[in-house]
Amino acid sequence: MSAYGIIKENIKLVEEQIDTACKKAGRDRSQVTLIAVSKTKPVEMLQEAYDCGCRDFGENKVQELMDKYELLPKDIRWHMIGHLQRNKVKYIVDKVYMIHSVDSLRLAEEISKEAVKKNVTVRILIEVNVANEDTKFGTTCEEVLQLAKDISKLPNILIKGLMTIAPYVENEEENRCYFQKLKKISVDIMKENVDNICMETLSMGMTGDYRAAVSEGATYVRVGTGIFGMRPTMLKGEEI
Ligand SMILES: *Cc1c(COP(=O)(O)O)cnc(C)c1O
Repeated sequence: MSAYGIIKENIKLVEEQIDTACKKAGRDRSQVTLIAVSKTKPVEMLQEAYDCGCRDFGENKVQELMDKYELLPKDIRWHMIGHLQRNKVKYIVDKVYMIHSVDSLRLAEEISKEAVKKNVTVRILIEVNVANEDTKFGTTCEEVLQLAKDISKLPNILIKGLMTIAPYVENEEENRCYFQKLKKISVDIMKENVDNICMETLSMGMTGDYRAAVSEGATYVRVGTGIFGMRPTMLKGEEI
């Protein structure tokens, strides 16, 4: 089978699973957007996913995102999902649809500063390390409200919700508690009714656990391997 056939089949399968999870949870399918996580994959494969209807792509490296941005159609919504260094913010503020990985006030201040310079408004999510893993970025469950309040005062930034990367598990049911926790935090923050804090977006769920995430309220799922296959870096024990 051609690579095209495989990507098309994979997307169909993921779409079916999202459908099923939505039905089971009594959610409308339109509330969930699939982000095709294309890091390390060549533009030809992204173009194939695009031809199958994907318009949301996730990348975790600034340079790679910029290169792909130049080469692919302009109606793609690029999601920055990886840890972002402050000195690289300036390259992407006017290219990304959303930054999912904001976990400090300093990073948010840099995004705001560059957004003002370029006269754009940047949508962001606050990344929360819900499972408190040493290896992961993200703010803590205890600090997220204060961080959101501080960021909400900055110009040219819109807080759209929260993001988390759940632990790697064999059985996705084990991650359900973390998805529930992120949902609860977002509801609690919403109740605070702070200006310029919107909690409509929950970015949670990857290839191994997106069904559980959808049933717990995810509005974005970020699926890489399930669409494009294994990444070469996985063999070396990739860091996310
Ligand atoms: C790589 C990555 C994903 C996709 O992971 P898969 O397990 O391949 O679906 C999702 N979110 C983030 C933040 C990532 O870095």
